[in-house]
Amino acid sequence: MTSPATTDATVYRVVWQPGSDTLVGVCHCGAERDADDPIEVWQWLLSHPDHDQP
Ligand SMILES: [Zn+2]
Repeated sequence: MTSPATTDATVYRVVWQPGSDTLVGVCHCGAERDADDPIEVWQWLLSHPDHDQP
């Protein structure tokens, strides 16, 4: 369960945390979010303007 998944544009990254069910999503703006549910991570990624971070 250590298979990193990249999107077509490498704009977003969603990576499985080894040894757990946790997904970590990394946005092109540098924001990160982890969640158990891939759908939650993707929905968060796709809501990009809402999680803009310095
Ligand atoms: Zn973002």
